[in-house]
Amino acid sequence: MRVSVVGSGPNGLAAAVIMARAGHEVTVHESAAKAGGGLRTDRFEAFDGIFDVCSAAHPMALASVFFQSFEITRRVDFLTPDISYAHAMEGVSAVAYRSLQRTIDELGRSGAGWGRVMKPLLLNIEAVRRLGGMDLRARPSTIGAAAALAAAVGGLSTLREDARSLAAGVTAHAAAPFGSFPARFVGAVLAAEAHASGWPIPRGGSAAIAEALVSDLVAHGGEINVGHHVDDLREVWRPGDVAILNIGPRGFARLGRGLLPASYSRRLSRYRYGNAASKVDFVLSAPIPWADSRLRDAGTVHIGGHEADISRAEKAARAGVVPVDPYVLLSQPTRLDRSRLPEGSSDEIVWAYAHVPNNSEIDASEMIARRIESFAPGFRELIIHHEARPAPFFAATNANFVGGDILGGRVDAGQLLTRPTLTTRPWRTPLPGVYLASASTPPGAGVHGMAGWHAARLALRDLDQTLPDLGVR
Ligand SMILES: Cc1cc2nc3c(=O)[nH]c(=O)nc-3n(C[C@H](O)[C@H](O)[C@H](O)COP(=O)(O)OP(=O)(O)OC[C@H]3O[C@@H](n4cnc5c(N)ncnc54)[C@H](O)[C@@H]3O)c2cc1C
Repeated sequence: MRVSVVGSGPNGLAAAVIMARAGHEVTVHESAAKAGGGLRTDRFEAFDGIFDVCSAAHPMALASVFFQSFEITRRVDFLTPDISYAHAMEGVSAVAYRSLQRTIDELGRSGAGWGRVMKPLLLNIEAVRRLGGMDLRARPSTIGAAAALAAAVGGLSTLREDARSLAAGVTAHAAAPFGSFPARFVGAVLAAEAHASGWPIPRGGSAAIAEALVSDLVAHGGEINVGHHVDDLREVWRPGDVAILNIGPRGFARLGRGLLPASYSRRLSRYRYGNAASKVDFVLSAPIPWADSRLRDAGTVHIGGHEADISRAEKAARAGVVPVDPYVLLSQPTRLDRSRLPEGSSDEIVWAYAHVPNNSEIDASEMIARRIESFAPGFRELIIHHEARPAPFFAATNANFVGGDILGGRVDAGQLLTRPTLTTRPWRTPLPGVYLASASTPPGAGVHGMAGWHAARLALRDLDQTLPDLGVR
């Protein structure tokens, strides 16, 4: 069977690999010059070193049913920091170690509460991962995991002091309304992974994951056609073929003009987008001089202050106002991976972005530098080079990042699990043989390939086939 995949992000490549392994003739069409979508590692324009353009930390890659069956850890060298993430605070910061016990101990008075929320999740971690990936095939462990997740979603709001700040930083990843079920659900899953598989980075950058997928696809007869922006579905699909679209609802409405029923197109057009990212990549002459020296070895650092401060900043961004003190996510990849710099270099690369309003053109470099400086006096003096990537950069380089929303659509109660439309099989479309598989379908944003896994599984089921073996061979 001829299978066209439009888009080569992690979900597109996951679907392509599965369909090629199942014996189909697969071609992936990608607008960009290189495959990978959000898995992109580039060279700095004016510095000898490489940086991750999009994804940096990959807890979901180790946790996902797709990547586990693909044996990703046998194909990519993941480096896992002892500190998964930290929440920068004045004085003593809050730190999530890979070790849950150490986290509890160092959180002091609020540590016991953190343990109470995390332990049931860790006891049920495999089932929690399946639920997080929307793999709802019934198993006895699913009920235990659902109960643990429900308790964690509630428990995150009962935390006190430093544990509450730790939770606030991780729940802000989803840019969802603070205190909402989607924010806490995403936060609970990410926080559990911090103590389960950790928050690893691939040696050589996130593109290493894309390269592993592409090389498996090619080894099984698949092809990648880069530099081809598909404008009309009929360029790559005719009735009787299979197409798996690694694109968002807006892109699909455009591609499917004249093919899609009007009522479905209308539902796609109602899909909403959320806050955008404004990013900066710094090169420093030394590690960030965090006042709390434990943060020097953290893989990821959240900057946002107390829960109420983050909530205010996120709300402002959603209302279209650039926050004065935005929530900032920061990664320090070269604390672990020196291969990203020339041999012998003692420089450091820092990746950071702030949540800003959708479509905002603001260059957040200065705001982010100020935020870092307040928890790491002397930071500015270490900057050798920086490159800003505001929201329009993301919108222009990936049609799925509408207005610079890097999460493929607003994450709220209406769109967490029903993206892009309310149906039990959101990966299926009204066109027979055409499936959707992107961050705008469940389980949403992140490098997990699970939307691609779901779409390919449905496509195979419609062809009376089962999932092929995906292991290294
Ligand atoms: C700054 C930033 C930081 C992030 N940090 C993390 C992180 O640390 N960890 C994490 O897990 N995730 C992170 N993410 C999110 C993650 O990158 C995305 O959720 C993920 O890449 C989405 O995967 P996808 O398969 O849906 O498609 P994408 O990765 O979005 O790829 C879609 C591809 O489709 C192509 N395309 C779209 N339309 C067409 C068309 N019509 N024709 C041809 N090609 C088309 C695009 O060019 C693109 O290559 C980050 C993203 C950004 C931007």
